[in-house]
Amino acid sequence: MRRLLAAVRKHGGAVLKLPVAIELLAQATPAQRKRVKAVLNEPAGLLYRTTDRETGAVGSVYIASEQGIDVDTKYAVVCETHSTILADATLKVAKRDAANTWDWCDGCQSKRR
Ligand SMILES: [Zn+2]
Repeated sequence: MRRLLAAVRKHGGAVLKLPVAIELLAQATPAQRKRVKAVLNEPAGLLYRTTDRETGAVGSVYIASEQGIDVDTKYAVVCETHSTILADATLKVAKRDAANTWDWCDGCQSKRR
């Protein structure tokens, strides 16, 4: 079950098309199925999601390659409210930027003024 959840996190809902995933889901307890379904609703590569306290905008951290975001860094921070993207090399910085979208997102900056 842990392996399935990891696969779902990595590939998003697409993993459900794999017969092995369907088989694992069939074996899951009702509580495990509930958790799997919650994870299935997450986009591929999503690691972290938060809300910027200043603007109310939603900031997400993705593994860029898994979400299909073309940046030169491992992580991509997305302001989901304004669809802006910031490239970050480390998870620590990416999480900080996700919580402070006003610092780099033009849409958030204009909303703050
Ligand atoms: Zn924004």
